[in-house]
Amino acid sequence: MSTLYIVATPIGNLNDLSPRAVEVLKSVDYIACEDTRKSGHMLQHFGISKPTFSFHQHNEHRKVAHLMNILDANQDVALISDAGMPGISDPGFLAVRAAQQGEHTVSVIPGPDAATTALVASGLPCDRYVFEGFLPHKKGRQKRLGQLAEEKLTIVIYESPNRLLKLLGELEEHFEPERLAAVARELTKKFEEVVRGTINELKTEFEQRDSIKGEIVVIVSGKGYSE
Ligand code: SAM
Repeated sequence: MSTLYIVATPIGNLNDLSPRAVEVLKSVDYIACEDTRKSGHMLQHFGISKPTFSFHQHNEHRKVAHLMNILDANQDVALISDAGMPGISDPGFLAVRAAQQGEHTVSVIPGPDAATTALVASGLPCDRYVFEGFLPHKKGRQKRLGQLAEEKLTIVIYESPNRLLKLLGELEEHFEPERLAAVARELTKKFEEVVRGTINELKTEFEQRDSIKGEIVVIVSGKGYSE
């Protein structure tokens, strides 16, 4: 029986890689990376030199078989994504399921993820929340936004910078424009910021900017919440 380690990696600040994560990455036989080149920089920074192979959303199904061959040959594998916790809007779930079905041990090494970091930083209620991840780009998007508008718990949405204004416009349309929300950008990085306000105010704020760059999480308070 071998072990598949699911290892959370930094969402921006390399110092957020835990000592246990380093220890595990140094101990395994292989490291499965979402992007071997991107992870290569981080691994090099920590002096970790292990055989890597790619494991991303386009080859995940095929690579699960490869991963299982390694585990079945009594070798341990660590799975990492480009940032944060594998499996959270990133490949990971299929690997965990296959390893468990193959009676291997799955051990998660916890660490940073953008969703909970943004949620807590938003100052909105975080005892109970809904993780939406990325909304569908086209089909089903408007319907999902309509459903989320009725949600009473705080909602966490991942969004790319070039679609932020579109999303804020859609939120204004489907939700009450005075609903409280926050945009968390570049968390743990040099230009980290958390902008709070009503959906309306956030849209105005970001419309005024020359450009919107970096990685973004949008947090929206649940229906009926007020301060
Ligand atoms: N597995 C990752 C995690 O645990 O958070 C999420 C991966 S998902 C492909 C990437 C998205 O996470 C980005 O588009 C953005 O919404 C969010 N994200 C990642 N890093 C971030 C950061 N430093 N600041 C804000 N959002 C971030």
